[in-house]
Amino acid sequence: MAAATVLATLPALAQRDFSKVEIKTTRLSDTVYMLEGAGGNIGVSAGEDTVFMVDDQYAPLTPKIIEAVAKFTPKPVQFVLNTHWHGDHTGGNESMGKAGAIVVAHENVRRRMSAEQFDSFWKSKTAASPKAALPVVTFTASMSFHVNGEEIRVVHVPRAHTDGDAIVHFPKSDVVHMGDVAWNGIYPFIDYSAGGSVTGTIAACDQVLGMVTDKTRIIPGHGPLATRADLQAYRDMLATVSGRVRQAIAAGKSDEEIGKMELSKEFDAKWGVRFLRGEQFTTMLATGMRQSGN
Ligand SMILES: [Zn+2]
Repeated sequence: MAAATVLATLPALAQRDFSKVEIKTTRLSDTVYMLEGAGGNIGVSAGEDTVFMVDDQYAPLTPKIIEAVAKFTPKPVQFVLNTHWHGDHTGGNESMGKAGAIVVAHENVRRRMSAEQFDSFWKSKTAASPKAALPVVTFTASMSFHVNGEEIRVVHVPRAHTDGDAIVHFPKSDVVHMGDVAWNGIYPFIDYSAGGSVTGTIAACDQVLGMVTDKTRIIPGHGPLATRADLQAYRDMLATVSGRVRQAIAAGKSDEEIGKMELSKEFDAKWGVRFLRGEQFTTMLATGMRQSGN
């Protein structure tokens, strides 16, 4: 998701009173866990070598997150991998760094966090992050962490939710963390202002669908733990709705008109309740697709 100003208006996804947030831990394999609190879902690998974390939600939650991790390992968090730059996934970077973690991300995550960002969909600015919150290790295409009995593969997927997304594959544990490239049961925000696109999001979903089985556990950026079937349903919803939006653009409709055409009607009851409504989702796609061609 995007800026704090926006989150403040979205109680379902952003509880601003962090004192009431509880961290729920779900064990997915011998070494991999999913942590849910407020903000993007967290993945953790904890085992014989170290603790590797994917995303860190918001700074005020860092003590609770560290406490939740301490329930299944005595080791400190050594690495935090950011799936993308948004504050509900990177807000804990500075405090996790102070606690000793090394923050790792795609180079575009560091680039976007280093300067003020403006989002044209939300009409909101996000200030540059302090140096202490920036990733200190960056990569471009892919990288691996050889820890806890498996090669954890971090792969950049271009122009998906943003221009700096990473998906994280834990092959032995049979878990994939997709960051905000995948949302389970919630229409996604696609950050066109930060180089995202629905075309790239669909391509990234296809890439993951090609490497997982029905047994694989998929951690989405938002929403409950997902299966391959859930990811397939998400991908198909995106393809159907964006295809209709593309046709409407070709037919000369304005973004506002497209928003009123109910192009996502049969999906709204499932996907359009917790965050973006169908009209907002289709308007977002129309504006972004028209401007970017993707
Ligand atoms: Zn996001």
